[in-house]
This record gives sequence, C-alpha cells and structure tokens, in this order.
Amino acid sequence: MAKKDYYEILGVNRNASADEIKKAYRALAKKYHPDANPGNNSAEERFKEAAEAYEVLSDSEKRSRYDQFGHEGVASAFGKNGFTWSDFTHQADIEDILGDFFEGGIFGDIFGFGGKRRTRRGADLKYDLMLDLKEAAFGCEKKIKVSRLERCGTCNGSGAKPGTKKVTCPMCQGRGQVRHVQGFFSISRTCSQCSGKGEIISTSCSTCHGKGQVKNVRTIMVKVPAGVDIGNRIKIPKEGEMSAASGATGDLYVVINVKEDNIFIREENDILCETHITFTQAALGCEISIPTLDDKNIMMKVPLGTQSHKVFRLRGKGIPYLHGGGRGDQHVRVIVETPKNLSEEEKNLLREFANKRGEDIAYVKEGIFNRIKDAFG
Ligand SMILES: [Zn+2]
Ligand SMILES: [Zn+2]
Repeated sequence: MAKKDYYEILGVNRNASADEIKKAYRALAKKYHPDANPGNNSAEERFKEAAEAYEVLSDSEKRSRYDQFGHEGVASAFGKNGFTWSDFTHQADIEDILGDFFEGGIFGDIFGFGGKRRTRRGADLKYDLMLDLKEAAFGCEKKIKVSRLERCGTCNGSGAKPGTKKVTCPMCQGRGQVRHVQGFFSISRTCSQCSGKGEIISTSCSTCHGKGQVKNVRTIMVKVPAGVDIGNRIKIPKEGEMSAASGATGDLYVVINVKEDNIFIREENDILCETHITFTQAALGCEISIPTLDDKNIMMKVPLGTQSHKVFRLRGKGIPYLHGGGRGDQHVRVIVETPKNLSEEEKNLLREFANKRGEDIAYVKEGIFNRIKDAFG
C-alpha cells in the first residue's frame, strides 16, 4: 500500500503554518489517543499516522525535504523500518504538546517518557465470569474476588515514609529528563532514577517499600442483568486499580462467559431441546412432559401423525431480552424412535398391522428411487 500524504493525514493544506499543523495534530491525537479508544486498532493506526506526519511536518528541515522528495526524502530519518516509537520519544516538543491532556496510562507505557506533570491513571481490570445458562437467562448476583493494586494507606501513595520529605533527583536535578549526546544529535530521555518525576524519596514507606501501591484482594458484588450472553461486558466504575499518588482509579470490566447446558442449546434469545417419542406415540398422538428454563416441566401436545425431527415452538419460554420486552421462544425437536428388541408377540402384531395396510415387508418392489426418477424424468 502506498504511504498516505502527511498533509492529508493531518487534514491541512500544503502551505499550512506551523501553528495550523500543531493544532491539527493536537486534535487528531486527542481523538485517536489509545486511552480514549481502548482496543480499537484502527484508532491506534490513525494515532501513529498522525504522530509520524507531525514528526516530519513540525520540523522545517524535514518538511522541506518531504515537500521536495516526498516520503523518500524523509525515510532515512526513520531508519530502515520507517517510523518507530523511539523516534517519537526523542521529540521533546511532542511532550509539551501532549503532556497537558494525557494522563499517562497506555500513553505513558508506549512512550515511556513520563513527565513531571503527568499522574498515572490506575489500570482497568478484566474479570472473566462463568455463568450457567439459567443465571445468564434470568440474571444473578455474584461475589467475585479481584486481586488489584491499591493506593498504600500508610503513605497515601507517595511511597515516602510518613514525616519524611522528598528530595530533588540528583541525576536530572529535578528536570525529569536527561540529555544524551549521540553524534550530531542531542536526545532527551526520561530520567531513570526518578522516572521523570524530578524528585526521589529519601526514606521509603515500609508498607509498600516506596511503590505507593499495595496488592489487595477484594470481594466485589456483581449484578448480572437477565439476558446476558457470551462476550457481554459489565463495567463496574472505579473498581479497577488505584494509581499511586493522585491519578484516577481504573474500572473493572466483568466479561460474561456461559457454560454449555446439558439440555438446552441457546441461539440468541431462543433455546432448543430435543425429546424422543416412540413411533406409536408419534402415529397416534400424545402429550409429553418438556423441561423448561423456569424449573418446571410443561405438558406439550404432539398431534397424531407427527414425523420425526418435527420442531414445535413454545412461545415466550426462551431467554429474556437483555433490554426488556419479553422472552424468546423454546423450540422442541421431536425424534421418533423405531422400536428395537421386539418380542415374537410384538413382531406378530406389527406384521398384522403391515398386512392391514397392504405393506409388503418381505420384498419392497418400488421404493423411493422410482419416485425420484419420476420427479426428474
Ligand atoms: Zn506506602
Ligand atoms: Zn531524575
């Protein structure tokens, strides 16, 4: 696939000012930022595209090379494999432009250049909850145990022993960034000693050993609504991980899974079950007891002359709709069984039955084959 034009990506024209480019990039980065679009790959692609376009167009020298020679003109700037994340982290200006609206989270993880201003949001957690069919159908309350990081109560997340003060990081002198000189380039990197915070703890909190967070197992009640199905997610706000310091608490996502049932097969809001009857029951008609989701059997009429595999419908005996408005149906497939292990007396009765109907059971002269031939002939 041909590479997209950088001006097109940012939605600006070719003589856009540096300010217009910055503004356009800022809007796109905000819109497609991974934190705002969790799990959305196309948003992440757009985000990376915009970052690459901005990397080039915000640099007057690269921009003029791009204007003259196109992508070829700037390819070397990104090395053999094109644009990489580490290129991006070298752009001090990117941090300035993004720092004030990114709270860290995924962004901090990808770019690895946490700034002083940024407070990290606690991670979202996912919990896989297995239900049986009836729990999914009618809803339930479940107690789940979630292991998560919580803010340390001893130091309130600072990581410092209470009563002690933080000191300026000696490695970066409080800037949070350290400059490295590589050939012609001078590169800013996040300070490894203070992780970009600019300060370090003089005495660590003894509860969390300076991390500001401790692992706790919490029991959380989950209300599962009626009608859920495999893959549905229930969001429980603020039950994810707590950040150290002052960042927001993450959310907990409970993802529904449903066990296979011994009797019923689910298809969206309908359920299907099978029942076996004898051929005399099928021929003469009968009433049979059918299990339902509601824990009590109901009687179903099978009319005389019912063929095997016929499906009957019990209206409103299926799964409730998730957003209300009644229930699906229950379908009952009737399987007619041919009797086996007949006694001599029973065989005689059936021979008599066949005789009465003029059915020749010794030798079938004209079977189904002739009729198929007629149909196509
Ligand atoms: Zn602590
Ligand atoms: Zn430092």
